[in-house]
Amino acid sequence: MIYLDHNATTCIHPQVKEIMAHLTEDPLNASSIHTYGRKAKNIIENSRHKIKSLINIKDESRDYDYRVIFTSSGTEANNLVLSNFHDADIFVSAIEHSSILFISTQASNIKIIKVDNKGLVDLEHLNDLLSKSSNNKKLISVMLANNETGIIQPLKEVVTVANKFNAIVHSDIVQALGKIDVDIIDLGIDLATISAHKFGGPLGAGALIAKSKLSIKAQIFGGGQEQGARSGTENVSAIAGVGLAAEIVKGELKNRMKKMQELQIRLEHGLVKIVKVIGDDVLRLPNTSLITSSNSLDTMTQLIALDLKGFAVSPGSACSSGKFSKSHVLEAMNLSGDEIKSAIRVSTSYTNTNIEIDYFIEAFKQINNI
Ligand code: PLP
Repeated sequence: MIYLDHNATTCIHPQVKEIMAHLTEDPLNASSIHTYGRKAKNIIENSRHKIKSLINIKDESRDYDYRVIFTSSGTEANNLVLSNFHDADIFVSAIEHSSILFISTQASNIKIIKVDNKGLVDLEHLNDLLSKSSNNKKLISVMLANNETGIIQPLKEVVTVANKFNAIVHSDIVQALGKIDVDIIDLGIDLATISAHKFGGPLGAGALIAKSKLSIKAQIFGGGQEQGARSGTENVSAIAGVGLAAEIVKGELKNRMKKMQELQIRLEHGLVKIVKVIGDDVLRLPNTSLITSSNSLDTMTQLIALDLKGFAVSPGSACSSGKFSKSHVLEAMNLSGDEIKSAIRVSTSYTNTNIEIDYFIEAFKQINNI
């Protein structure tokens, strides 16, 4: 199988797998006072440090400006943010992951920020929405890179608008981490969500990065772990895995980006004049190509045909729990029905090869009879 669906999940790094297997052999409860407990605590603190380092919180004095709260997933971290702002006016972009957008449909204090037809958040609309809010407490949530298109959002500009209105800014950086350099201090954001399985860590592990001055109230109660922000005995081996994955990414990011970029260029050149690449005129992740063509079969037929030929890719649209629905991202970008119904997402990793891309191009042409 040639796996080209790394935005859905990517393989666990072999070193991460090894350390995790090793750590599950010890009885590691970080709340215990004995030697094992202290070892667990150390591992957790070490991981926090490695994650901070990956997102460029490196200066000792800055180190205390943010804290890392471990969660079971990116989904949980996103939910944790929103649960802390139930009394605020919340502004989320129309292209957010369902873990942000789902809640948005349930609450009246949430407003949707439009995106333009390039897939970029509409800053004027954001400004307009903020100026109409009379609530002193305001939260903006705009992802750094979109999971379907890979389009990178103008987050610094979002922060500039937010500052005019004293709004807190959260960003879901799940898809960006491990694919581009992310410096959350330079971006100026207050909160960020990460997910381990998108950058070589294990499934079922994530974190919320929060400015230390923000008090984060738990949505899961119990033993008061994670400085009271998230109860539940810590999954020490998974947390060690996230930390190691972060450390490895930090050391390899430049080379990985170069490799992914080469693959992206090869893929898109190979399909030039055959498909439209969504977002090819704006900043995009080096590993994501959402392709669509009026001469292509519909998305599901393509996915099944490609699967039979040994290629794993995803629909352009949200696909959760195996359900396939129309893409809210492409709809928000005002793409035509024809473009939406044939879109497929190819998302690579630095581990893919040129020959795999060439095989994919061949298979894509064959199944679509182009
Ligand atoms: N945010 C984005 C942008 C994602 O792509 C995903 C997963 O696909 C998530 C959040 C959810 O992360 P997790 O799978 O850890 O719940």
